[in-house]
Amino acid sequence: MKSASENKLKGIGAAPGISISKAFLYKKEKEEIINEPITDLNEAIQNLDAALEKSKKELRKIFSLAVDKLGEKRAAIFEAQIMILDDPILISTVRNRIKSEMRAPEYIVHDEISKYTDMMNMSHEPFMRERSHDIEDIKNRIIRNLKKKKWKSKITSDVVVVTTTVSPSDTVLFSRVNVKGYVTDFGGLTSHAAIVARSLNIPAVVGLHEATNRIKEDDLVIIDGYKGEVIINPDEKQLKEYQKKISRLQKQGEELDKLRDLPAETTDGKLIHLLANLELTDEMEMVTHSGAKGIGLVRTEQLFEEYEAFPDEEEQYQMYKSIAERIYPEIVTIRTFDIGGDKVLPVDFKEPNPFLGWRGIRLLLDNPQLFKTQVRAVLRASSHKNIKLMLPMIASLIEVKRSKELINECKDELKKEGINFDKHMGLGIMIEIPSAAVLIRDFAEEVDFVSIGTNDLIQYLLAVDRGNEIVSSIYQEFHPAVVRTLHYIISEGMNCGKSVSMCGEMAADPFAVPLLIGLGLDTISVSASAIPLIKKIIRNLSYKELKAVADECLAFKSEKEINDRMHRFFNENEKDQIKNLY
Ligand code: PEP
Ligand code: MG
Repeated sequence: MKSASENKLKGIGAAPGISISKAFLYKKEKEEIINEPITDLNEAIQNLDAALEKSKKELRKIFSLAVDKLGEKRAAIFEAQIMILDDPILISTVRNRIKSEMRAPEYIVHDEISKYTDMMNMSHEPFMRERSHDIEDIKNRIIRNLKKKKWKSKITSDVVVVTTTVSPSDTVLFSRVNVKGYVTDFGGLTSHAAIVARSLNIPAVVGLHEATNRIKEDDLVIIDGYKGEVIINPDEKQLKEYQKKISRLQKQGEELDKLRDLPAETTDGKLIHLLANLELTDEMEMVTHSGAKGIGLVRTEQLFEEYEAFPDEEEQYQMYKSIAERIYPEIVTIRTFDIGGDKVLPVDFKEPNPFLGWRGIRLLLDNPQLFKTQVRAVLRASSHKNIKLMLPMIASLIEVKRSKELINECKDELKKEGINFDKHMGLGIMIEIPSAAVLIRDFAEEVDFVSIGTNDLIQYLLAVDRGNEIVSSIYQEFHPAVVRTLHYIISEGMNCGKSVSMCGEMAADPFAVPLLIGLGLDTISVSASAIPLIKKIIRNLSYKELKAVADECLAFKSEKEINDRMHRFFNENEKDQIKNLY
């Protein structure tokens, strides 16, 4: 029999929850192009057509972004790639070969397009050799889309997906097929895939390094998303222990449900505005049932992730209007697209340092049409006066000023068109880049509210990648520089008479919430699934004590001291089962 530690892997608990299920192994990167025979010709041809169509849509999306930034000439590469996808000779050759040879489309696509690239690579013309990379790119795009389809059809429900890495859209797919959890070799706590897993309530453990080596297909696995542990083929004792934990959790969930209509108020009467973050429309039901007092962050880039092209004004308007109506009379804060970083929409728009690159407001201001389409849609949806607009990744005042000019242009256009909107719609910014934290007073003069994005603020303040498990131990929310910066933003922002909230993941950490409230924060926005637990924690605490413990933490010089202090505080104050989970 295995000893307890032999079958246990330790990683990062990326989304809480526990599940026990069979493993489905997905080795994305290692999959090769196999010359497989097919039995269903119709299905193969349909898959080919769908993959070609999807590739075209992706390229159009890249082209629309690239044309403003790179200019017509360089963006023309993508246009040329679209033309290749429309080349009747190439496409009919591929189709005919699938029919006559009855081989998998990815093999035929690979074989046929490689003939061209091989020929081009042999050319003496450097131009030809360069062009062969573009053709290679297209080949890979079509094959990737063909494989993704195959992969999707292979996942069954009730499994734990074991893989190297996942993207936010993979996570959405998991929820649709009722996956019981996922474990990955790579990835960090605040990567967007982890955030989406939390909002969808799918337990996840990431950064295990050897998960895909150690776990075999159909192994029984236990995922403990609280502790960040995975147990492979548990023994009788482990199984019993976790089955007991699951039933305790269910009971606790029922207890927490009872708090739904009670205020998030400390024992000495300090009221905290507890709002929800929204990533996906599927979550709306959970948001309205969670007892959230509004939506503090809509990640719009995530909302439309499954769209292959950028949504047009009407599509966006319908989406924002329906969210605003469902949350009415509470308020929803809609953030403009934060594309870039690990949320690169067009998959292979490569940058050397995406988190320091073309992301958020930078990309939007370079694509004013994209920005204005979104702003117009938000304004049109604001007629019930319960929408606020928020800008991501602000580093300099000039970005706010330029955004305001564009927003005013949208308002003028709508006025001329006779379309109703909220003329006083609140405008705010994310404080997630250290320069914005330093300039908080100047920003406060320009906007109506600010929201602290700790996921990025910590990454940029400590120069540590939020999605890289290798450095996850130095991605520290309790680093003294983080705690003091938060204190500065909260107190200076409030001194300027502006509302300050937090929508980063730190606000959902049971150990951090007491500190944040003690630092003066009175509005926090977390995934709907975290709201009941956070409310329970708040209702157990005295604000007077929180202020004292926050003052102690502000004087500490190391992360360890703050971390130890907050864990001690939590254990002293949370007397029931919550603390047994962590
Ligand atoms: C943040 O950075 O904390 C944040 C809320 O934004 P995102 O996680 O979408 O980058
Ligand atoms: Mg951010």
